[in-house]
Amino acid sequence: MASQVSDRELLCESCGYVLAGSASDGPCAECGVSVRQSLASCRDGATWQREKGVLGHVRGLIAAVLRPGYESRRLIIRDGAMPSRLVANIVIAAALLTGAFALAQPTTAGTFSRSGAELAGIFASFIALLMVMTWIETRGVRLFGRQRAWRITPAVAWSVCTQASFGWIVGAAVAMVVVPPLAPLLGVVQDLPGADVLVPGRGPRNALALLILLPVLGFELLVYVGIRRCRFANRP
Ligand SMILES: [Zn+2]
Repeated sequence: MASQVSDRELLCESCGYVLAGSASDGPCAECGVSVRQSLASCRDGATWQREKGVLGHVRGLIAAVLRPGYESRRLIIRDGAMPSRLVANIVIAAALLTGAFALAQPTTAGTFSRSGAELAGIFASFIALLMVMTWIETRGVRLFGRQRAWRITPAVAWSVCTQASFGWIVGAAVAMVVVPPLAPLLGVVQDLPGADVLVPGRGPRNALALLILLPVLGFELLVYVGIRRCRFANRP
């Protein structure tokens, strides 16, 4: 079972067959795919791993979102929980969500006044929330992998989730555009007579749920693609 072999064992990335003893220029004895395609050297780095600086980060984001399968196939599997790129993505996404939250929560006077301290608290809460959800996801994909006899090591889980964290940013950016205009609609039930008593705070809670749902969707989609392409990933 691939899930039980060491994380240094060379596996066929296509079917999970243990390739130890196979000629590197031959085919996998199980599925026939060239052994060469499973060598760790084929994983030469996703765009965000190869390119540095702000521009590299932006190019990494575009590639991760537009070509997630291709990027996952090139992803280098590295050790380390909460790598700096992941933290950076979470901070950027949390900033976007804080902006969306501020815009989606007009006061009774119809203005958007929230104090700096309030917004800082909300920003910190979003950072903590995204970090916890990412950590939970790394545990979840490992469990998911074990059930399917895939080799999802902690390094694979963190590498895939770091790449997928670009989905937090994209989801948060979409939320910033769509949630504030929708917030009054989501809160419309509050305007009905007696609605406040039946479902107090229904409107803001719906807006907040949508605000969280969109980044989760972006992240989960990229995790799904990434984990499928890295289920038998070989590491350098
Ligand atoms: Zn194979």
